[in-house]
Amino acid sequence: MTFVKTNPANSWLRATLAAILVSFPTACVQSNTLTKAFEPSVKAETKQAQTTSATYADVEALVNMGPRVAGTPVMEQASNYLSEQYRKAGYKTQIQTFTYSKFEDLGSNLVVDGTTINAQALKGSVPGKIDASLVAVPNFGRADDFAKVNVKDAVAIVKRGEIRFGEKARNAANAGAIGLIIVNNKPGNFAGGALTEASKIPVLGISSNQGNSLIDRAQKNRLNLKLNANGQNRVVTGRNVIAYPEGVTQPQVIIGGHYDSVAGAPGANDNASGTATVLAIARNLSGTPLARQAWFIAFDGEEDGLHGSRAFVNAATPQFLKGLKAMMNFDMVGVNNQLQIGGTSSLTGLAKVVEPKVELFGGSAANGGSDHASFAAKGVPILFFYRGYEANYHTPNDKTVDPKLLDETTQVGLDIVRRLLQ
Ligand SMILES: [Zn+2]
Repeated sequence: MTFVKTNPANSWLRATLAAILVSFPTACVQSNTLTKAFEPSVKAETKQAQTTSATYADVEALVNMGPRVAGTPVMEQASNYLSEQYRKAGYKTQIQTFTYSKFEDLGSNLVVDGTTINAQALKGSVPGKIDASLVAVPNFGRADDFAKVNVKDAVAIVKRGEIRFGEKARNAANAGAIGLIIVNNKPGNFAGGALTEASKIPVLGISSNQGNSLIDRAQKNRLNLKLNANGQNRVVTGRNVIAYPEGVTQPQVIIGGHYDSVAGAPGANDNASGTATVLAIARNLSGTPLARQAWFIAFDGEEDGLHGSRAFVNAATPQFLKGLKAMMNFDMVGVNNQLQIGGTSSLTGLAKVVEPKVELFGGSAANGGSDHASFAAKGVPILFFYRGYEANYHTPNDKTVDPKLLDETTQVGLDIVRRLLQ
């Protein structure tokens, strides 16, 4: 256990957070002076998590703000709301701002045999106009799938699923493709599709019905197509909400989840559920010795490619990151009964001992796709809490969650934090 001595002056706080955050050039720290934080009262450690009402109310409050798209005024409102809730729970808060360039589609399309097909450039794509032949890549576009076909100087087309968009794009570029089309695995086009890494080639998403017939045709005949990835980059400012007990500059665990959502989606399950669960864990730990080993973070810019968590780890010092026993990330934990946990094997082993009823998962789902990946990339042990894909994911219907599941996730999170820190 490491406790950091408190300093009566407020300047230490700015200094410490500045020291942690200063190495990231675009990050800056603002003191939050809207509400005076009060001292947490010391209370006995509670064994049972609080009832769902407050947690569910947080989800409702976030959902009622409308889609929480990074760089929009709604995020200022949402970050103020979260800061206020953390201060009410007895924590200090800081907003870490960061900037990144966001790709906006301005009407991309494909033209095959004189027929125009609507397409959407994925965020993180590069713009471009291409006239080339089309090559269908088998399966889901892993490197060995690309090895089975010749995509050199061609546009590759592949199905969505199994691995991240960014990995497909990287495999395509490595195999010599000059463009990539990803076929959706459900009707309609992509909502908010984003590459978790910047691609070297244009990457467009198209609907499943048009895409699957295009794959069929490309397998039978040599098809020529014109690809137009039309879009522009805009600089947006993201806002991470960092909550910490007064004086704690080196936590042993970071508990977090993203609070942004994709355009058009109110983001109840993805990810007001995780945001509210992290807040509920913070409320339950408040005033206990365990709280003094934790920081809580609501990340922004996740849906555009894990920008908030990356800004945080890039700004942190190596010693700070080395001092972390775990980063626990909660993303989509309010729908589907079975709670799944992925991550570093020593930690998932511990999680299974603490909570035998959780399901462990591995592979790329545990490694990428959400904010824990930014910490894993810096060598921090991670745990990822998730309840799996659901039909309303990234749609305007992602409007509600099951309060019981929020409560259960909070309890599991608390049990694991206690085991980890005691
Ligand atoms: Zn999410």
